[in-house]
Amino acid sequence: MSAEFLRHLEGVLAQIDADGLYKHERLIAGPQGGRIEVASGETRRPVINLCANNYLGLADHPEIIAAAKSGLDAFGFGMASVRFICGTQTLHRELELAVARYLGKEDAILFAACFDANGGVFEPLMGPEDAIISDGLNHASIIDGVRLSKARRYRFGNGDLDELEDRLREAEKDGARFKMIATDGVFSMDGYVAQLPGICDLAERYGAVVMVDDCHATGHLGEKGRGTPALTGVNDRVGIVTGTFGKSLGGAMGGFVAAAKPVIDLLRQRARPYLFSNSLAPAIAAGSLKALEIAEQADDRRARLARHAKVFRNGLVKAGFELLPGETPIIPVMLYDAVLAQEMARALDERGVYVAGFFFPVVPKGKARIRTQMSAGLSDADVQFAVDAFVDAGKALGVI
Ligand SMILES: *Cc1c(COP(=O)(O)O)cnc(C)c1O
Repeated sequence: MSAEFLRHLEGVLAQIDADGLYKHERLIAGPQGGRIEVASGETRRPVINLCANNYLGLADHPEIIAAAKSGLDAFGFGMASVRFICGTQTLHRELELAVARYLGKEDAILFAACFDANGGVFEPLMGPEDAIISDGLNHASIIDGVRLSKARRYRFGNGDLDELEDRLREAEKDGARFKMIATDGVFSMDGYVAQLPGICDLAERYGAVVMVDDCHATGHLGEKGRGTPALTGVNDRVGIVTGTFGKSLGGAMGGFVAAAKPVIDLLRQRARPYLFSNSLAPAIAAGSLKALEIAEQADDRRARLARHAKVFRNGLVKAGFELLPGETPIIPVMLYDAVLAQEMARALDERGVYVAGFFFPVVPKGKARIRTQMSAGLSDADVQFAVDAFVDAGKALGVI
């Protein structure tokens, strides 16, 4: 490798650092959970974790670990194959059918990640004659997936149904054969739930398919955790759901698409991340299957999660913090200023609470925040500890 090339890369890195955008990874010395151990050199420090997508607290669940271990024993470590050559075990098919049943769809297909599910779902289904209309705040993987398709692309401002209707009309005027509206079920930076009933109304008026990426909802929102379509009462009106096993459903990895059979059958034939990437590891498939089973029955965990969200919200609002309103376990504490958000994250870290500050370009300029996420893996005492730490740090920095 030429020295010039490496110097160039070092220059790019230096610029990222100078812009204050360099992402440093902290080391965790144990399993993911409500309380974790942060490693620094030889020292280990316990902290309360408010920044995992571990909504149901299943990431270290003993039954899931046991299921993954028995999957490992019964089905081996890896498949060394894509699905269509020799990478489909009974386990994979069982997991697909379990996902489909859970979400009330005819069938489902697994991917190595939801990033791949979103990367692979659009291109086989939507051709150059078709139109994809995408919410402006959709996840990066939807943006990439839409780009990989040859369909015409339209974008509407986050949650702006008037603009969505304008785009649907525009697509119609442009002669679109089929139209698809793509949206996140929950927008992860704000914690807002997509207005699916309004989106479905428009979709039906203009003959569009609705695709929902429900990564931040499957397992914990809606009846039995069936996600935002269930929460908003539109389960039968949403055509395609994509999701992940990497968040509520055990938190390991793997993604899926659930939809009517012809959709899934065609993805199995044509979705490139499915065709040209290895099968999900058996231990992960077995663990995720158990996670799904536990999640469906986890009304107690969902209730604890909702209670934590309420206590945390009330505690912070009472202390004078400004939060974005919402009904999900994603609770953004608005600080507006990027430097302040970083100082607040540091102050909380010193007080034993692990949070992540977000600022431009992840959120709009001047909208810096600390995004907190509740988990059923936290105890009532943990949540109270976190509220107290926020109040103490907020006072120390003059935020409240
Ligand atoms: C996390 C997330 C993804 C990616 O899921 P992985 O399984 O981790 O690849 C995709 N879409 C949304 C909305 C997400 O939040």
